[in-house]
Amino acid sequence: MPDNFDVIVIGAGPGGYVAAIRCAQLGLNTAVIDSQVNSEGEPSLGGTCLNVGCIPSKALLDSSEQYHRLQHQFSSHGISAENATIDIAVMQQRKSAIVSSLTGGISQLFKANKVTSFHGFGQLLADKAVNVIDRDGEVTKTLSANEIILAPGSIPIEIPSIPYDHEFIVDSTGALAFGRVPARLGVIGAGVIGLELGSVWNRLGSEVVMLEALDDFLDLADHQVAREAKRHFGKQGMDIRLGAMVNRIDSGAGGLQVQYTQKDESHTLEVDRVIVAVGRKPATDGLLGEGCGVTTDDRGFIEVDDMCLTPVPGVWAVGDAVRGPMLAHKSSEEGVAVAERIAGGKAHVDFNCVPWVIYTSPEIAWVGATEKELKAQGREIRTGSFPFAATGRAKAMEEPHGFVKIVADKNTDRILGVHMVGPHVSELIGECVLAMEFQASSEDLARTIHAHPTLSEATHEAALAVDKRAIHKVN
Ligand code: FAD
Ligand code: NAD
Repeated sequence: MPDNFDVIVIGAGPGGYVAAIRCAQLGLNTAVIDSQVNSEGEPSLGGTCLNVGCIPSKALLDSSEQYHRLQHQFSSHGISAENATIDIAVMQQRKSAIVSSLTGGISQLFKANKVTSFHGFGQLLADKAVNVIDRDGEVTKTLSANEIILAPGSIPIEIPSIPYDHEFIVDSTGALAFGRVPARLGVIGAGVIGLELGSVWNRLGSEVVMLEALDDFLDLADHQVAREAKRHFGKQGMDIRLGAMVNRIDSGAGGLQVQYTQKDESHTLEVDRVIVAVGRKPATDGLLGEGCGVTTDDRGFIEVDDMCLTPVPGVWAVGDAVRGPMLAHKSSEEGVAVAERIAGGKAHVDFNCVPWVIYTSPEIAWVGATEKELKAQGREIRTGSFPFAATGRAKAMEEPHGFVKIVADKNTDRILGVHMVGPHVSELIGECVLAMEFQASSEDLARTIHAHPTLSEATHEAALAVDKRAIHKVN
């Protein structure tokens, strides 16, 4: 007899574990199957995000930023720190301790909420049965449930001509685990991961060259934000080469020779290690057993409707493995929404209000549409922007870089997008997400009192600037 549950969740990343906890809170007998292991080979909940994604990358970004500031920025405060050193082993231990404390926290939450956890690979069968498969490929259990939530997440894309060797040519997971600072580091793909992990090792002393296939830098972001960010990355020593198509990598006495073409010319880049960060793909291999009825599109994404329901009644899918941005908070929102729907409630995920943050220095953050997208849709818009250099707080922090830009509908003044580059914009964007969620106008933000002196005054002034009445700049 299969073990029967109200809900089975496959995958315990931010989509799956959050869905499971919410299901349990709603009184549903819930089981989770997850196959993730840590570097010691032990089961580790939390998915990509907690184990090899958001959390370890932010831990290293923070360590490397502190080190970089100590070396390059403290002198203007009158603080000198000659011969500063960094112990990479200690930095990595700190990262691992943060990861274990958070992944252990998920286990505690599962226990407290009475979520049953199975370690193994879940395979969906017909009639909402699920096999739990161990590392040797043996089926250890067959479970069944009234409702199934698929949350298998994503894995790095491999360039066929450049296979990972997991030592010199690595994916993001390998790049989070370097035991020493590579003298020369090549990064293929100047997207979110390339920029964040390129920044980490650049700040720690690597000479970083990034090879990006597209001619436009950070095409997804507002073009002024992208331009400002690229200028700063260049000043930090990150050499970003656009329109660069990598063909192959040879290894020789001098290290790795990355062969690439740029504007029809062939080039060779010599480096010690290469991070490949050219995007991620849904982790659906082996998930969907014969006759389960769930379908994938031509890129492997699980096909779902707006409610995250697959073509099979009672089988849902959330997170990186379905359409939409591959972001932890988007996965979690979908997970909660599905749990609510299963329990008979109503839920809504507002895809127009999913914030994006890139944790470089300066940080980049946005929510809603870009000017380019809106103009392509023929929308009439007004924009207002304000530089951090004109705020007292950013100057006091010695970080007078970047700006806030607000894009509003020309007729209704409703905020359609907010784009930021600068200090702590990862935190500042929250106010703008809330404003957009409440369908605020730029006038609403303009009439809201912002504390002085804070970085959020740049948001306030940008809102005033939409109506050409910013105070601390010439409109
Ligand atoms: P995942 O987190 O990938 O979790 C899926 C889980 O399911 C994994 O544990 C996997 O092992 C398991 N699994 C897969 N298939 C099966 C199966 N058949 N049976 C059992 N278990 C299975 N996003 C942000 O929002 N902010 C960030 O700062 C950020 N930083 C990132 C940094 C890096 C280096 C990377 C790689 C990603 C980052 N992301 C970030 C993206 C974020 O990690 C993902 O969007 C998020 O983890 C997706 O959540 P998920 O639950 O859909 O899938
Ligand atoms: P990405 O899509 O952000 O960037 C990949 C880049 O590689 C693109 O600019 C693309 O043009 C380029 N590229 C593709 N093929 C190439 C090739 N052959 N040669 C050179 N360049 C090539 O993907 P990613 O950086 O791998 O990150 C994957 C996803 O993970 C992101 O889309 C994001 O959703 C998520 N993530 C989010 C955060 C965050 O929220 N801060 C951090 C890391 C990852």
